[in-house]
Parts: sequence; structure tokens; C-alpha cells
Amino acid sequence: MLSKKDTQQALQTMGELFPEAECELVHNNPFELLVAVVLSAQCTDALVNKVTPHLFAKYKEPEDYTLVPLEELEQDIRSIGLFRNKAKNLKKLSQSLIENHAGMVPKTREELEELAGVGRKTANVVTSVAFGRPAIAVDTHVERVSKRLGICRWKDNVRQVEETLMRKLPEEEWSASHHRLIFFGRYHCKAASPKCESCPLLEMCREGQKRLKAKVRS
Ligand code: SF4
Repeated sequence: MLSKKDTQQALQTMGELFPEAECELVHNNPFELLVAVVLSAQCTDALVNKVTPHLFAKYKEPEDYTLVPLEELEQDIRSIGLFRNKAKNLKKLSQSLIENHAGMVPKTREELEELAGVGRKTANVVTSVAFGRPAIAVDTHVERVSKRLGICRWKDNVRQVEETLMRKLPEEEWSASHHRLIFFGRYHCKAASPKCESCPLLEMCREGQKRLKAKVRS
């Protein structure tokens, strides 16, 4: 397992590799971000960004989602995976925002998690990106990179990965680290073809060393 010091060093290196790392979901306010993150479940940010310009032009407030017939909203997001469930959740969460939060997006993870279609990961993204609160949202990239590098254990579940990252990184760096891990996983330590040969973290990465040895042998 990587020590705290090595974990922080690894995150610094990722930051140097991807100084532009930030949320790639296009949005103009917390409500648009919330909608975009809900749509992004099991779907790429790039695909969500193709749908949201039209969606955000048509639906500006939570009320707009509550008033539209479900079938029409489904059609507006039909190119996104699980669009039927997501349309239902958008209508439900918009209703909750109106009834419980005066139409505003709440700022805390706990309040966000009470909304339809919003789990811990989505809540962490929104509270961090929209409101600047320290949080680490663990998605598939964050989990894979953390495990390959040995920041956490292979057998850890998503919650354990999040807790380990929070323990090993200073709180003021949680949000930036979340984006760095995502960029590093999305563009460098990819799921199917990690760039181990050119990886600046190879020296501290047992998984990368193992992969390169296996390549030499084959
Ligand atoms: S050495 Fe390979 S597996 Fe390890 S972090 Fe770098 S790209 Fe990922």
C-alpha cells in the first residue's frame, strides 16, 4: 500500500500531467450540474454534453421538469443510457427541490442524497464542484487508479476507497485530487490500455511493473 507521502506525491504528479483537470460536464449553475451528473450515471460525460445544450435551453428551472409530460422528457434525453429511469428521477428530484428547498439545489451531501437518482457519488460531485466543499467522488476511474497504484486495496469497496483517499490526502486537496484521478484514469491509466511504459508513476506502481514484466515475457 502506498504511504500518505507517496499518495500525495502521486497526486501532485497527476496534477502536473493534467493541470487542466476539472469537471468536464458543461453547466452554468448548480441545478444544471445536478441534472448533468444525474444523466452521466453509466454514460460518458461527452455524450451528456451532446444532450444538455438542447435540454438546458428548454428546461431552465425545476418547475419546467415537473410540468413536462414524462414521455416528452424521455424523448429529450433518449440518446442517454437508462433514459426512462433518469427522466423519472429528474421529475421527482425537481419536485423535491420545489417542495423542500425553495427550488434551489441544497449544498450538503446529506440533503443532496435525499433527492431521487442522487447517490453518494453524485452528491459529492455537486457539493464539491458547485459549492466548493471538500469531497472525493469515487467513480470507475478513481477506483481503478487508486487500486492499481496501491493507494487502497483491490478488495476495497467504493466507500472504503473514498475513506482511504480522504485519510491519505489533505482535506483542502480532496476536490482537486478527485479531478486529477479522473483525468489520469480517463486519459492515461485507461481501463483496457494503461500507458505504463511512459508513466511517471511506474516506479511506485506494482501493477504497472507487473504488466510490463508480463509484456516482456510474452
Ligand atoms: S504504471 Fe500503469 S497501471 Fe500504474 S499508474 Fe501508471 S499507467 Fe496506471
